[in-house]
Amino acid sequence: GEDQFRIRSYRNASRVISGMSESISRMADDQEKLKKLPGIGESMAEKIIEIAETGKLRQLEELKKEVPQSLLEVLRLDQMGPQRTKMLHDALNIQSIDDLEKAAREGEIEKLEGFGKKTSAKILKEIEKFKKEDRPDRFLLGEVDELISSLLDHLEKKVDQMTIAGSYRRRKETVGDIDILATAEDPGQTMEHFVSLEETREVLSKGESRSSVVLNSGLQVDLRIVKKRSWGAALLYFTGSKAHSIVLRQIAREKQYKLNEYGIFRGKKRLASKTEKAMYEKLGLHYIEPELREDRGEFKASRKNRLPRLITLEDIRGDLHSHTDATDGRHSLEEMVEAARKKGYEYCAISDHSRRVAMARGLDEKRLAAQVEQIDELNRDMKGFRILKSIEVDILEDGSLDLSDEILKELDLVVCSVHYHRNLSRSKQTSRILRAMENPCFNILAHPTGRIIQERRVYEIDLEKIMKEAADRGCFLEINAAPDRLDLNDEHIRMARELGLRLSISTDAHALDHLNNMRYGVDQARRGWLEKEDVINTRPWSELKKLLQRK
Ligand SMILES: [Zn+2]
Ligand SMILES: [Zn+2]
Repeated sequence: GEDQFRIRSYRNASRVISGMSESISRMADDQEKLKKLPGIGESMAEKIIEIAETGKLRQLEELKKEVPQSLLEVLRLDQMGPQRTKMLHDALNIQSIDDLEKAAREGEIEKLEGFGKKTSAKILKEIEKFKKEDRPDRFLLGEVDELISSLLDHLEKKVDQMTIAGSYRRRKETVGDIDILATAEDPGQTMEHFVSLEETREVLSKGESRSSVVLNSGLQVDLRIVKKRSWGAALLYFTGSKAHSIVLRQIAREKQYKLNEYGIFRGKKRLASKTEKAMYEKLGLHYIEPELREDRGEFKASRKNRLPRLITLEDIRGDLHSHTDATDGRHSLEEMVEAARKKGYEYCAISDHSRRVAMARGLDEKRLAAQVEQIDELNRDMKGFRILKSIEVDILEDGSLDLSDEILKELDLVVCSVHYHRNLSRSKQTSRILRAMENPCFNILAHPTGRIIQERRVYEIDLEKIMKEAADRGCFLEINAAPDRLDLNDEHIRMARELGLRLSISTDAHALDHLNNMRYGVDQARRGWLEKEDVINTRPWSELKKLLQRK
């Protein structure tokens, strides 16, 4: 029925308000006020109240069951709103992106009223983009860690050593399936244990050296048991990437060697196999970290001994983007600060939303001033830790900032974000952000492309131009470490490094445990070849403070 096609707006609503349960319930207490907030009509207000009261949206849950997954994917295309999807579904029985593509190619769509050739072509273009960027069958790296943690705990007791290879080890932002490599005294018993784990939905195959299962979550996990002496060779082989492995084999061939998952051989003689380092050295290369194994210049750098000394999680001295329950965070300022201290940080910036984000009860000048006062007071008694006064201020459509310079000047750093008007043209969106940077209070551009992995595409901007300007002006861009954002992505990070622009890595924490997402930001920074020096929050506050003085 009609309702099927409203799922997208429900989804959007529930995404916007997920992770802000406490402020939601507070908002829900005052239902009349809620209905008057910009962007929230009566029916949306009711949905918010329902989520506040039940923890989820019943309609959304029901719709999710009714509507085939393939049709939901159609809704993710930019050109395909709920109405269009319904029309095509009714007129041409479109059930999936493949159906849609076929209908467009065969000229069926342009014949429909309200569509035409142009729209049909746009839809095809969207599909191409979707197929290139989106892999809905993949899991977020952060999700995977949760899904396999208990499995790893169980397995650990039955193996000698164990590593997850594949794209997981290369810390790609999404992971297809999990390849576990292990050595074990009694492989048969280990395999028996592996296939009988509680969270297993289906056993795809079971053998002495390799078994394959699907977990309840749908994630496929393979376990390979290898010999100790070929550990390095197996690790290298199953870590990939494909592109990296192809080059490795070429190099081996040039030296008249044979390279496989058991080692490097000349004839029958085993030349190397125990460690990856030995494997690389036999090929005339310095050890290459897994995050760099994408055939993106790592071979050349390795030969010249010019590989980057990649940043590590331990290099991070503080978080530069976090929220409290003053806006849409789940915990109080004191709780967030305490958690950051416990992580061993030296500082943590409190950067709540500004007033434009009305749904999150963004701070106006007065409330921000009160927060500044509160932080000053807390800092007075703080030893070895500093709370940084900050804000995540919205960049308005015309490029001005959402709060006055008077209050922004009071802060230690100003994080700036685009949350609204995401659909501007590339040139307009770019000059909007450049204009914002002209404000001398501007320090860091948060989640610079606005993407949500597998949910929301980047907005159109000239990132290179923005990066160059930022470097010139003494501004910085953020690597947002939230596992569903990772924005900037690895290639953008690499571009920043090449342009000489330094970055921050921040969690954008809306709750205490989000502070732990820092590792995912560091992972992507490593994939982008960053060293400690490239990241501003590896500096002690005394140095960071100087960096934040605009040129
Ligand atoms: Zn934001
Ligand atoms: Zn934020």
